[in-house]
Amino acid sequence: MRFLPVFLDLASGTVALIGSGPAAVNKLRLLRSAGADVRWYSGSMDVAEEVLLASAPSGRLELSFADPLRADFSEFVAVVAAAGGTLDEDVAARARASNIPVNVVDRPDLSTFIVPAVVDRGDVVVAIGTGGASPVLARRLRERIEAVLPARIGELAALMNRYRSRFAAMRHKTASPRRFWERVVDGPIAGALLAGRARAAEAALARAINESALPQKHESGTVYLVGAGPGDPDLLTLRALQVLQGADVIFYDELVTTGVLDHARRDADRVFVGKRRGHPGIGQDEINRRLAEAAQSGRSVVRLKGGDPFIFGRGGEELEYLRKSNVTVVVVPGVTAALGCAAEAGLPLTYRNEASRVIFVTAHQADEAVAIDWSALADPQATVVVYMGLASAAAVRDGLLAAGRNAKTPAGVLARGTHPDSKSVVGYLEDLPALAREAGEGPALLVIGDVVARSDAWRQADRDCVIAKELAA
Ligand code: SAH
Repeated sequence: MRFLPVFLDLASGTVALIGSGPAAVNKLRLLRSAGADVRWYSGSMDVAEEVLLASAPSGRLELSFADPLRADFSEFVAVVAAAGGTLDEDVAARARASNIPVNVVDRPDLSTFIVPAVVDRGDVVVAIGTGGASPVLARRLRERIEAVLPARIGELAALMNRYRSRFAAMRHKTASPRRFWERVVDGPIAGALLAGRARAAEAALARAINESALPQKHESGTVYLVGAGPGDPDLLTLRALQVLQGADVIFYDELVTTGVLDHARRDADRVFVGKRRGHPGIGQDEINRRLAEAAQSGRSVVRLKGGDPFIFGRGGEELEYLRKSNVTVVVVPGVTAALGCAAEAGLPLTYRNEASRVIFVTAHQADEAVAIDWSALADPQATVVVYMGLASAAAVRDGLLAAGRNAKTPAGVLARGTHPDSKSVVGYLEDLPALAREAGEGPALLVIGDVVARSDAWRQADRDCVIAKELAA
C-alpha cells in the first residue's frame, strides 16, 4: 500500500482546480458533490455550461482567469491539476513547496495524493484505489461494492451519529459500546431502517439506549473453533469471515497464514499458540485453559486452525474441554488440506471405477507410521492421503508395499498447497521418499493412488506411465 486512504475535510478551505478539459470537469463535479469551495482556474471562458452542471447545495464556485502560479497557495486545502503539460508540473512543484496536498490527474509521479473511485451513500463513503495503476479496475470494483451496499446504509450511519453521544452519556459501565453498536447494526434496528421504517428504527434505538443505562447481565463469551483452510484466504468460508470480523481475541496456529489473519478485526488481540521449529509451543492443556478463560471473561474468542478443526487438528479435544467448562462452542468448518491441495493440483480424490474410497491418515513420526494398520489401505481402489507424513515417507512407502500395494502405484507430494510457493511432485509409490525430498519444506501431503496420474503435474511431466496409458484407453 503506497497511498493511505484518508478523508479530507473540505470545509476547512478552498480547493484550487486547474484546467478545463473533461478530466478537470470530472474533478469539478466530484469536488462540488463533496460540498467543496472550489476556485477554478479554467484558463478558458467557455465553461458556463459546466459551471451550471456543477452547481451544488453547498460550497462556493469561483472562476478565476488569473495565472494559478501567482496565487497564494497557503489558502488552499488541496490543489487538483488537470491542465496537462508543463503547467501541471509547475503547479505541482509550487504545491509541494508549500506543503499543500496536490493531485495531478494521470500523473501519480507528480501527486502527493490520488483521488479514489468513490461509492457515495451520504455518511457512508467507500474509497477504492489501485495506486493509480488502473482506473478501469477501480471502476469495476466500485460497481461490485455499489451492488452489495444497501441503499439506505448512509441513513443508518447518520442515525447512529445522532445518538452516539447520548449513548456514551447514558450507558452503564457494564454496557460495552462495541457490543451495543454491533447489536444495532446486526439486529432489528438496522433491519427496520434499511427497510425504510426510519421512525420505528429511531424509536427502538432510543429505547435500547435507555436500557443500556441499567447494569448489564454478565454474559459469558463464545469460542468459535474455526477452520482457516489450507492457506489461501479466499478459501475461508463466509461464516469464518464473519466470526473473524467479530472476534475480540484470536488464538492461532503455525499453519494459519498472514493472509488469513489479515481478514480479522484490526483491533482483535492475536495470540500465537502454535509450534515453531525448535519451540514446542505452550501445549494443549494450556491452550484449552486459555480459551476457556478468555470466553468466561465475556470475550468473543476465535480458535483459528489450519484446514478443518476436526481433521487432525485436536479440535475434538478442545470442544470437549470447553463443553465441560460450560463454555458455548461453535464449530466453523474449513477446507481441509487434502481438499484444497487436490483442487489446486487438478487431482480428483475419487474417480468412477478407479478410486471408490479416499482415506485420510496421519503419520506424524516413523514409529506412528509403523503402528498404522496398512492392510486396511491395501485396496487398489483407495486413494490414501497422508497428513504430517513428509518426514516419514519411507515408513509410509514400506507399510503400503508390505500391505500389497503395487510399487508402481502413482504417488505425489503436495507441498505448501494453495500458498504462493506451492509445489506438487509426482512419481511412483516406490520413490516416495525421493519425491518428499524434492518437494522441499512442509506443510505437505502424501497422496497415493491411481488418481495421481490424472493430476496436472503428471500431465505436465508427460510421464510414460503404464497406468496412465491404461486409464486413457
Ligand atoms: N486440520 C488440518 C490438518 C492439521 S495436521 C487440515 O484439516 O488440513 C497438519 C498437516 O496438514 C501438515 O503436516 C500437512 O500434512 C497438512 N497440511 C496443512 N496445510 C497444508 C498445505 N497448505 N499444504 C499441504 N499440506 C498441508
